[in-house]
Amino acid sequence: QVKERGRDAIEFFNAHMAEQVHHQLLLEGQLHKALEESQFELVYQPKVSVKTGVLTGAEALLRWRHPTRGMVSPGEFIPILESSGLIIDVGQWILEEACRQLQYWQRQGYWHLNMQLSINISPRQFRREAFVDDVISTLRDVPIEKGSLDIEVTESVVIGNVDETVATMRKLVSSGITFSLDDFGTGYSSISYLKRLPVSTLKVDQSFVRDITEDRSDKVLVQTMATMGSLLGLKVVAEGVETEEQLMLIRDFGCHEYQGYFYSRPISADDFTHLLTESIASESVS
Ligand code: C2E
Ligand code: MG
Ligand code: MG
Ligand code: MG
Repeated sequence: QVKERGRDAIEFFNAHMAEQVHHQLLLEGQLHKALEESQFELVYQPKVSVKTGVLTGAEALLRWRHPTRGMVSPGEFIPILESSGLIIDVGQWILEEACRQLQYWQRQGYWHLNMQLSINISPRQFRREAFVDDVISTLRDVPIEKGSLDIEVTESVVIGNVDETVATMRKLVSSGITFSLDDFGTGYSSISYLKRLPVSTLKVDQSFVRDITEDRSDKVLVQTMATMGSLLGLKVVAEGVETEEQLMLIRDFGCHEYQGYFYSRPISADDFTHLLTESIASESVS
């Protein structure tokens, strides 16, 4: 009987796995066409100063408008872009699209001098030999103001070779790009990377912020990360702030900026344009 149950379990497992593989292959096939059929778009989530509530920039986030399923979330398709290698072409599109949008905002005079637009770069794209050249030639084709583009990477870019990671970052820093360490605290890496990598910003992962008002250890962890980041001279950004209580706490802990549903969800480029023009209008009143 045990044997039979075992066999059932194996069959169930196989059927489930087969279904999963089928689903992945289906998506991968569709993703191959998504770029040429312009099904990708970028949305923009505002970043805000904790102290003043003033808009400090945005993070560009990828969206896939699937022909029949509507918006598919990046959690579902970015792993497939990465495993298939499609992330290289899509990543280049993200870079160009973000620069075009930023250039438009700057030429219209909507973009303040100190604001930054962040894009996410996957480890696979970052580690490519041509990455630095690709970024520099994109900036040549689509010029933007120096210091206005920020690249978010996770600690996993470091895996394998810290020296190479540092060298890649330095070349881009000298072309006026800054780096943020994304999802900080969730990776395998050590605190020593913080010292070695030329990053300007540390982004405290939303998984620590989520329960910050109830969970004592999360509270301690966020406070510690914020203190450490500040003492190292980094800007500290808290992700996933959804409530005023969370905002009060991260303010007490000295976080400089935040992102989260409390201020705004990621929004379309047009909606972000409105936000930019409103922030100019409110400035000229005060
Ligand atoms: P991430 O870079 O850490 O982006 C933050 C994620 O948190 C976004 O999810 C954002 O919509 C979500 N978020 C922001 N505020 C809140 C909040 O208050 N509450 C909650 N629950 N969530 C919030 P999204 O857009 O689904 O992206 C998920 C992840 O997919 C990103 O995490 C990033 O790792 C990846 N990703 C997104 N866009 C890109 C891209 O253009 N390129 C690459 N390589 N990866 C991307
Ligand atoms: Mg990010
Ligand atoms: Mg993040
Ligand atoms: Mg995250």
